[in-house]
Amino acid sequence: MDSEFKELYQQVILDHNKNPKNFGHLTTCNHQSVGMNPLCGDHLKLELQISDDDVIDDIKFSGDGCAISRASASIMTSIVKGKAIEEAKEYFHQFHDMVMNEEEPTEELDERIAVFSGVKEFPARVKCATLSWHTLIAAIDGNETISTES
Ligand code: ZN
Repeated sequence: MDSEFKELYQQVILDHNKNPKNFGHLTTCNHQSVGMNPLCGDHLKLELQISDDDVIDDIKFSGDGCAISRASASIMTSIVKGKAIEEAKEYFHQFHDMVMNEEEPTEELDERIAVFSGVKEFPARVKCATLSWHTLIAAIDGNETISTES
């Protein structure tokens, strides 16, 4: 990774950690899930309001976690809010493939997702970055808790 990109990565993480988007609770929600990453101690709750035609009308997160898990949750919620469930799942796959694969991505990535490619340099933090995405899928599928270690 070139140093300019590394700086961008760190800046994005710091900004979202300090001023997270969609942090808090919804007044009404019909899907929720709690995600845990015991390796780091990240603990994240997602609340979603999904419409009858499968659009994520609103989403918020709460909980405690490291800067990477919070920044990832902040960015993930910004990306999927207002999107159809199917579209949100495509973003999940984009993110997951990017952080789990050694190869450079071939498809064009959403730039908010691409910034997390930097996490590959810190393998211990990959689960911090993917936690919010796994919790999103769990909430959509109706699973109330997930853990990165199960
Ligand atoms: Zn973490």
